[in-house]
Amino acid sequence: MAQMFINGEWVDARSGATYEVKNPANGETIDTAPLGDAADANAAVESAKAAFKDWAAMAPDARAEILHKGINLAKEQVKDLAALLTKEQGKPFMESMGELNHCLHGMEFYVGLASKIRGSQVPLPPSMNPNCYGVIMKQPVGICVGIVPWNFPITLMGTKVGPALIAGNPIIVKPASTTPLTTLKIIGILNEAGLPAGILNCVTGPGSKVGSALIGHQDVRRVALTGSSETGRQVMETAGPDFKRITLELGGSDPMIVCPDADMKKAVNGAMIGRFWNAGQACLAVKRLYLFEEIYDEFLEQLVGKVGRYEPGDGMEKAEKPRIRMGPLHTAFQREEIEEQLQDAVDNGAKVLVGGKRPEGNEQGYFFEPAVVENVAEDSKLVTEEVFGPVLPVFKVSNLDEAIAKANNSKWGLGSSIWTNNMKYANQAAREIQSGMVWVNQIHFGYDEMPFGGVKASGIGHEHGPEALDYYFEPKSVVFGGLD
Ligand code: NAD
Repeated sequence: MAQMFINGEWVDARSGATYEVKNPANGETIDTAPLGDAADANAAVESAKAAFKDWAAMAPDARAEILHKGINLAKEQVKDLAALLTKEQGKPFMESMGELNHCLHGMEFYVGLASKIRGSQVPLPPSMNPNCYGVIMKQPVGICVGIVPWNFPITLMGTKVGPALIAGNPIIVKPASTTPLTTLKIIGILNEAGLPAGILNCVTGPGSKVGSALIGHQDVRRVALTGSSETGRQVMETAGPDFKRITLELGGSDPMIVCPDADMKKAVNGAMIGRFWNAGQACLAVKRLYLFEEIYDEFLEQLVGKVGRYEPGDGMEKAEKPRIRMGPLHTAFQREEIEEQLQDAVDNGAKVLVGGKRPEGNEQGYFFEPAVVENVAEDSKLVTEEVFGPVLPVFKVSNLDEAIAKANNSKWGLGSSIWTNNMKYANQAAREIQSGMVWVNQIHFGYDEMPFGGVKASGIGHEHGPEALDYYFEPKSVVFGGLD
């Protein structure tokens, strides 16, 4: 029976309530987790408050050393952690290993930045006082809350924990209800490395209760959410009245544009991985594919042939080559939503070129055959909604202006890509596509080193990179006079 981690201890929910965490590949119960509520959230904030001052006063190198030790301890257990992640999330073991390594690498990035944090000194106009100058201090922002979704529960926990701790803040993690187990293990390991009690807490339970209690707590100053755009609105409403510092990493509907001169093999591979990694349950997945008419038929032939090689199945079992393993959808709801979106497109004239149905056998898992679809109406759900599963709508375009106009005809603006060797095309796309990121001849991926965030309904602020660290500081302007 899993427990929460509050104030340096493993604890049950104060109410004693628990819930079952299930394996999406077979419906079996993996473990139970505490069903936390506002009382647990409040206890976590209290412990963070008590620990904050000493942690903020500690030398950045000393903080970094503890986190680094925790990361190394997690590395020793990475295979067990990855197996647990596959069981609770569904993704193939190889993808879980990738996620764990990504998370640990991301936190290491912030360990490396600890000793490089700088404020600044500002010369001031002499008219008021010739002997005064300004200093901009970087002070830890205060108690942080990290709210994490189920699709990349570990990486997206690390993108919040790493910078929060290195900047000198305590943080309380709220994992998605369906993926608390690996998160709890890692938070336990990081604490084992020597974090003071209360600096890194984890409270499990529903977002509507635990999440909103944490965000609404008067002592919390900083909220980092990764989740849907709808949840982003709710979080903004809860955090707004007290002017809390928020970053929102939300949904997306990334366009991918392939020009006639693109390296076809690489672009097909980019579409495959970009759309179908994690069974398509990724914010930055390729969700709309725009192909120039000159290459439309050839590209689709190659893509459809490759997509047909996917074999949905238990993520702990390897597929036999040339088949490629795809795990189940994470929940029954996810699969039903995808089926409904696909049906809506078909009802409006779309043609399914491959996949698009539940495979036979294993009725207990939420499996779905990945699909490629053409002739999709622009007003169908596959275009207007976020498609959080393995279905790829493909569109024919006759020039780049048309492709960019269609790419921008979306309420989201997270990522986008263009595949071309034409520098003019690449430059136009980089400048004109409305998105937080543009990949040129590169698979959609969030690098630890690069700021990552969206525009429009995809959110505000950034994670990753040195830029993200700034969201965990409050700059304070100090003017020194009286020096003459
Ligand atoms: P979700 O919004 O349902 O839940 C995300 C987290 O928010 C969960 O921990 C949930 O319990 C919590 N939550 C829900 N309601 C809340 C509330 N009112 N107050 C506080 N917390 C609340 O999202 P999900 O289904 O877990 O994840 C999928 C979504 O996340 C997709 O839309 C995807 O695009 C998005 N996502 C975005 C990024 C990014 O970096 N932009 C990355 C991954 C996923």
